[in-house]
Amino acid sequence: MTSSQEALECKKVTRKRVDVILRLFGFEPKALLDAMETHGAIISGSAALAALFPLSFMPGDIDFYAGQHKTDSFCQWLIANTRYRLVKPSAPAAQSEVEGSYSLACRSIGKVLTLQDGQLGMKINVVETISSEPFAAVFSFYTTLVMNVITHAGVGCAYPDLTAERIGVRTRSNSPARILLEGRIRTMNSRGFTVEMGWDSQAVQAIIRGHACGEGRSCHVGERQARSNRGLLWMTFEEKRGAEMESFIPNVSWRLPQEKSCNDFAN
Ligand SMILES: [Zn+2]
Repeated sequence: MTSSQEALECKKVTRKRVDVILRLFGFEPKALLDAMETHGAIISGSAALAALFPLSFMPGDIDFYAGQHKTDSFCQWLIANTRYRLVKPSAPAAQSEVEGSYSLACRSIGKVLTLQDGQLGMKINVVETISSEPFAAVFSFYTTLVMNVITHAGVGCAYPDLTAERIGVRTRSNSPARILLEGRIRTMNSRGFTVEMGWDSQAVQAIIRGHACGEGRSCHVGERQARSNRGLLWMTFEEKRGAEMESFIPNVSWRLPQEKSCNDFAN
């Protein structure tokens, strides 16, 4: 196979992996991806991680992220075109607990709407981000392991070296969310993933040792720009091939909280 044939195969496989997940949740993939494009919604969290590890684990739900003022129109589309219906929280306290759990695991979250397919029993969440650009929220997640996205055009992974080895780094240590985050990490562990406490962990250093500091996707130091060569490892779906990556990936930068520079780990 030539490298261009291989690239085409990769694109087909990526889309198939996404289709498998979306169908498990009762969606018609093309219709849903088109609606995500129209309403500016993306998928992140465990469903996006599952797309990178096919047949490895089944996500418990799908988390959609939509920009400010976009969640209502996307929910209306879901209700009109799928079997998903809004789950009424039993009490305001229960709803604020759901929203609290998202805002603690990821900064920059507004409201969270939960919908359920009454026939399949599957649940999905539509999370409104404070920013108009939902990509921005992904880079404020509690671990690098979930900084992955499924969009209408492809799949992106922000920390591919570590993620490929099923390892993430926790981006926040002690906070009021400690107990919540420990619960999420236990779920990750049960799915065969490890979340290390910091970049100085031996397991992490074994993977990223020797990288050129300040360059590429292995380095946690400094600002990264989603579209640049320090941006996302990006796999475009076959049907979107030929279009510029810039048309799919927003102009978003992020910087992880960092205690030490890479040089401090050298000895
Ligand atoms: Zn570095």
